[in-house]
Amino acid sequence: DNNTSDSVELLQDKLYGGLLVDGFDESSCLSRYQSAMYHLKGLSGKPSSYLISRLRKYEAQHKQCGPYTEFYNKTVDQLRSGKFTESSPCKYVVWISFSGLGNRILTLASAFLYALLTNRVLLVDPGVDMIDLFCEPFPDASWFLPADFPLTAQFNNFSQKSDQCYGKMLKNKSVVNSNVPSFVYLHIAHDYDDHDKLFFCDEEQHFLQEVPWLVLKTDNYFVPSLFLMPSFEQELNDLFPNKETVFHFLGRYLFHPTNSVWGLVARYYQAYLAKVDERVGIQIRVFDTEPGPFQHVLDQILACTLKHKLLPDVKHQQDAINSSGIPKSKAILMTSLSSGYFEKVRDMYWEYPTVTGEVIGVYQPSHEGYQQTQKQMHNQKAWAEMYLLSLTDVLITSSWSTFGYVAQGLGGLKPWILYKPENRTAPDPPCRRAMSMEPCFHAPPFYDCKAKRGTDTGELVPYVRHCEDMSWGLKLV
Ligand code: GDP
Repeated sequence: DNNTSDSVELLQDKLYGGLLVDGFDESSCLSRYQSAMYHLKGLSGKPSSYLISRLRKYEAQHKQCGPYTEFYNKTVDQLRSGKFTESSPCKYVVWISFSGLGNRILTLASAFLYALLTNRVLLVDPGVDMIDLFCEPFPDASWFLPADFPLTAQFNNFSQKSDQCYGKMLKNKSVVNSNVPSFVYLHIAHDYDDHDKLFFCDEEQHFLQEVPWLVLKTDNYFVPSLFLMPSFEQELNDLFPNKETVFHFLGRYLFHPTNSVWGLVARYYQAYLAKVDERVGIQIRVFDTEPGPFQHVLDQILACTLKHKLLPDVKHQQDAINSSGIPKSKAILMTSLSSGYFEKVRDMYWEYPTVTGEVIGVYQPSHEGYQQTQKQMHNQKAWAEMYLLSLTDVLITSSWSTFGYVAQGLGGLKPWILYKPENRTAPDPPCRRAMSMEPCFHAPPFYDCKAKRGTDTGELVPYVRHCEDMSWGLKLV
């Protein structure tokens, strides 16, 4: 009857048209079912039916290969014995906890996409501080690596010098196709070298295909370079006909705040953001040796928001209060490690009226002072703030910051990016609009695998371009 089809439709909306799968215990992860009430505009674009079917297939595979399943146990045995005996039906990508939270979210999405493309199962090293941030994304089987996984104790020591490091194996010419190792360590961190970068060549993928365990350490959103590999081209095209939606869809699929983080998001949103006409997010990340606040950063923020009419200017001569009608209201959500910028902006809109008559509320959830990666509440607040920024209508972000990329990607927003200041002066122009909602890959390879020589990988195809905020970075547009 009508009622059931209405409620089926409602559930479809809540689950973003089937991007998310039903069947989870709702109370164990409220954000999974409630986020659509906060992301008022829904998804930015529609996921392809192929992506949706591929996710369902992955979920079945994850269930079959997940922790302590028969196949898992068997494949772990190979690892313990150190010998590759037979090709396992389950192969894995193990993601090592590494770097700040924004970085982690981007690398998890990258690792998941790589797992999809190579028919592997993604398992996540919980490290010391991945607990109680994200709900389990896959039904019926955990994505966390069990504590007794044989390589866990080595995770911190894996480096480019490790014998199992793929780049080092290539350098030493110890890669022999007939001799498949039980695991390989992939170093895709910002300091990786030309040998490590051969990961992005089809030829090397051919060898890696056989290896049951790929252990990955990365602080890079390496998705753009996967789009430059001929062997993945067709599949990626089918998964993402609109290429700038990769992180948007995978992010919404994978990252659901746990109930404690969701409480931080929902309470803040309802108290300060829900009732206004427009929400403007300003994410301030200053990469300087000193903590600030800096006048040039404040000047830059105001120059950007005024120039592009994202926020109204103020009148320094006070007129009598014009009280006809209810004024439009805007809320500014600021995030920063420091409270200095927030105080200045808040005071400005308190001390003077706006030229448009709009009423501006200015809010900042926390000012943690400095990055404290291993503290639970610190990480929960950082995650809640990225999420809150993703719920804004207009977003202004800082250059080079993965914290901002996560917010824009989850929100499906093309932010205004504040250019990185040089020599402590506000750049002119202060900001520019992003070409797409995708994150930037900060350390891409510049190598033509076929020709075996350097090339500008930002000039090969129209959908992989250099980033707005980092001239050597790559992003999907
Ligand atoms: P990135 O360094 O800007 O690329 O972002 P990351 O998230 O990888 O690392 C920065 C870390 O510093 C965050 O994870 C937080 O721990 C902290 N941090 C930076 N900016 C903020 C902020 O505005 N709010 C909060 N709560 N934490 C922040």
